[in-house]
Amino acid sequence: MDNSVEKSKGIDDLKLIWDQVLEQLKTRVTEEGFNTWFKPTRLIEQRNGVLLVEVPNPFFVEWIEEYYGKTLAAALAEVNSAELRVAFQPRKIEPDTARPRFIRKRTLYTQNGSRLQDRYTFKDFVVGENNRFAHAAALAVAEAPSEVYNPLFLYGGVGLGKTHLLQAIGNFLVRTQPKLAVTYIPAETLFIELIDAVEKGTRMEFKNRYRSKDILLIDDIHFLRGKESLQEEIFHLFNHLYEGGKQVVLTSDRPPREIPTLEERLASRFSGGLVVDIQPPDLETRIAILLRKAESEGQNLPKDVAFYIASKIRSNIRELEGALIKLLALSSLTGRGLTTALADEVLHDLLRNRPRTTPNRVVKHVAKTFNVTVEEINSRRRTAPLALARQSAMYLIRKLLGFSLKEIGRCFGGKDHTTVLHAIDKIKKMMGEDMEFKEKMMGIEQRINRG
Ligand code: ADP
Ligand code: MG
Repeated sequence: MDNSVEKSKGIDDLKLIWDQVLEQLKTRVTEEGFNTWFKPTRLIEQRNGVLLVEVPNPFFVEWIEEYYGKTLAAALAEVNSAELRVAFQPRKIEPDTARPRFIRKRTLYTQNGSRLQDRYTFKDFVVGENNRFAHAAALAVAEAPSEVYNPLFLYGGVGLGKTHLLQAIGNFLVRTQPKLAVTYIPAETLFIELIDAVEKGTRMEFKNRYRSKDILLIDDIHFLRGKESLQEEIFHLFNHLYEGGKQVVLTSDRPPREIPTLEERLASRFSGGLVVDIQPPDLETRIAILLRKAESEGQNLPKDVAFYIASKIRSNIRELEGALIKLLALSSLTGRGLTTALADEVLHDLLRNRPRTTPNRVVKHVAKTFNVTVEEINSRRRTAPLALARQSAMYLIRKLLGFSLKEIGRCFGGKDHTTVLHAIDKIKKMMGEDMEFKEKMMGIEQRINRG
């Protein structure tokens, strides 16, 4: 078929090489993992030093590359000295069966230049204690734009539903008040358009494009950090819309006054309506979200499996969703049932590449930030800086790992639970009063989560 196929090695030799790689893999991955992902592979040919291996469908390529990339590289290194590389190719199948049914259809965009995605609706948003207020505020704005809260400012961590709620407002209005000009735009896109407009000398058009909107939904406004020109532009845009009685809704990863370098006049504008936060979902809400998503994929997810996943993935709904989609995919592709065992496999693969958060990891990051050593934090010394670092570590272990006061006490040489409680309260209080300290703590948290 292709005359560039290397002739020096026959296909049988190549098969041998791939068989050896497979033997290596057997010793490196679980039996389940091997049977699911590698057993169905088949060597097709070698092209320019690349072994072309066929897999049952495109999902395999994605999965193997994402989760077994390093293992595969190690197995290859073990068996061949010629530095062969491997590429995977999905088996060719009939076009209409090519896309497994569980994989999301391509995102559909509403057809009116609003840049909204259809799938973000209030109907599909699960309300829990963590987002009840934000949801209510968003719905109120959607029902009576420019009348209740203007601007509405939603903030919260990554993957907690900010974009979803923001676009739900837009989608609601597109349906209920089709005459209104609704536009969703990430702050980053605004920035790119602004730079482009400056370069092309089309700044007036840029201004007019957004000044003519009735509802402007700006996502991830924390992106304004350090971008003076954009801040200036947004300030005037905001005033124009606001004075014209138009609705503005903004999202951010933090409240207006905590966005570093955000000009005071903007922070003050953004805080002038209603500022609401979205917190990470509790266990019940996470389970409800999983069940709802599974249902919308036409699948019946057993409660114990939902519980299992929800108890492992705690702080990010996007990840929760990702785990579910992989579980459904794996089940559908391998014909195995939706069980906690299968979920365990998916989660194992998902969480493997991420360092697990442990009390030690927390202490390590705290020590680094506070410029002390891990040994000092773990010691009994009570100088003020050490006490503060120790108390900060206690607070973070509580927050990130959900340890009980007693367990935390044990991590620090058997401290009494009232001591721990006192420490946590103190840190909370300090964070409420001292912005710089709060930023420091948030920074540590982010670094711990990042790994
Ligand atoms: P953010 O913008 O805060 O980073 P997103 O709005 O993109 O988060 O949400 C991440 C994913 O989780 C999206 O697919 C969204 O639909 C889903 N999601 C978030 N919150 C909820 C919720 N309360 N109910 C259902 N799905 C949610
Ligand atoms: Mg978002």
